[in-house]
Amino acid sequence: MDNECLFCRIVAGEIPAAVVHETDTTLAFRDIDPKAPVHVLVIPKHHHADVVALARADPQLAADVLVAAAAVADAEGLRGDGFRLLFNNGGYAGQEVFHVHAHVLGGRPLGPMLAR
Ligand code: AMP
Repeated sequence: MDNECLFCRIVAGEIPAAVVHETDTTLAFRDIDPKAPVHVLVIPKHHHADVVALARADPQLAADVLVAAAAVADAEGLRGDGFRLLFNNGGYAGQEVFHVHAHVLGGRPLGPMLAR
């Protein structure tokens, strides 16, 4: 655990979160500032700064995050209409929290992938 890391502190129970799914290795909770009707963040409990660091250090844990994201999409009823799964990675992507997290977004048409 990184004591300075917001999402590590959520994993540790020091900061509250609206948890929707948990496994031995992952946690999923609602984004505090949702950008869609469904906006859930899926994280590994172990700290890795971004998806590249996670994939290189622990491919099984990276797979666990994807499996958890799929379970969240099912539980939130997103499979039929579709949803977006994204990782922001680094500065150009606007990553704000440097504990890797997948955004599960859905519940309405999400429009083009990027603003032009
Ligand atoms: P990113 O820009 O990919 O790093 O996304 C960080 C996300 O974390 C943003 O969508 C924030 O709204 C969300 N966020 C920040 N603090 C919290 C929190 N305490 N609980 C839940 N989501 C949070």
